Amino acid sequence: MHITIVAGARPNFIKISPIINEIRKRQTEGVDIQYSLVHTGQHYDKVMSGLFFEELNIPEPDVNLAAGGGSQAEQTASIMVAFEKYLMLYPTDLVMVVGDVTSTMACSIVAKKMCIPLAHVEAGIRSFDMTMPEEVNRIVTDSLTDYFFITSAFAKKNLKRNGVPDKKVFFVGNVMIDSLLANLSRLRKPEEFDKLGLKENEYIVLTLHRPNNVDNTNSLLDMLRTINDNVGNTPIVFPIHPRTRQRLEGTKCNFTNIRFVSPLGYLEFIYLVKHSRAVITDSGGITEETTIMHIPCLTLRDNTERPETCSVGTNELIGTNPQNLVPALKKLFAGKWKKGGIPELWDGQTAKRIVNVIVGFPK
Ligand code: UDP
Repeated sequence: MHITIVAGARPNFIKISPIINEIRKRQTEGVDIQYSLVHTGQHYDKVMSGLFFEELNIPEPDVNLAAGGGSQAEQTASIMVAFEKYLMLYPTDLVMVVGDVTSTMACSIVAKKMCIPLAHVEAGIRSFDMTMPEEVNRIVTDSLTDYFFITSAFAKKNLKRNGVPDKKVFFVGNVMIDSLLANLSRLRKPEEFDKLGLKENEYIVLTLHRPNNVDNTNSLLDMLRTINDNVGNTPIVFPIHPRTRQRLEGTKCNFTNIRFVSPLGYLEFIYLVKHSRAVITDSGGITEETTIMHIPCLTLRDNTERPETCSVGTNELIGTNPQNLVPALKKLFAGKWKKGGIPELWDGQTAKRIVNVIVGFPK
């Protein structure tokens, strides 16, 4: 059995790491399972890609399609062209895609058109917000997938509604949490921690990268101002995504509480979150990580494709109107944030379950 695993962007690297580790472990046990790793090049610089390979010990990709940059359509097209060429040269028994980025969708289409079975890890989640490029990616990918590896009962319900038969759906848990739990003992204090004079539990972490929040510079500045003005003297550490940085270039951002830093490596970022008072974010993956670490999470979105982070975990949807943050921050500083629990099967054993399913596939 040969699997071609696709990864293209930051959150993908975190998801493939435990799956590759598990495959390599099975190989040493004599199981007939081979893999190739295709990096599409969607994220290509050191801080968004290289660092993750180093820190998570992900082996060098077999190929880098170098299909980064450009508009959504340009990127989709260049990934498709390059991946098709690759698969023609290197046939495989199964293509595995993860998450919901452009590479996930583009490679799914190519695999299916070449009649190669397709597995999707983190299938079935939906925000029902078609303004999110990721939602389009999820819907297209899941309309082509043969093996759905899911993180939640919510995903199962969505797939059922779309007519996916139960026998194609595998509730395995969450690979992001495999990575998190496997690396908790390896975390690294980021250089910035002491440089900025941060103290445990006395700062907030901020991340923003969704088009809805960052593409309009005035709204983005409004949001930053509201955060800055409603945290007392609490430092806000803001590892700034390249997309967001671009929007702020040339603007005057004199926010006394906000400390802009470069995107951090995984081990440094999780360290920062783990020791923080709270996280303000529009990321999906971070709402899962804060849930596991019981860190309050204020999500600046109107919807989530991960509702269990709110119903079970520490996440709360604040919305995209900055004014909604004011009462939420008051609640946080009054110490009234929920403690949260852990969603079912988010236990660090997901990659094992995925590989168990795959080795049982018909050859
Ligand atoms: N992350 C990181 N460094 C940072 C910001 C985020 O390592 O400076 C990690 C974070 O821990 C999570 C993932 O990147 O595992 C989330 O990526 P992102 O927010 O880009 O994507 P999303 O989850 O929203 O798809």
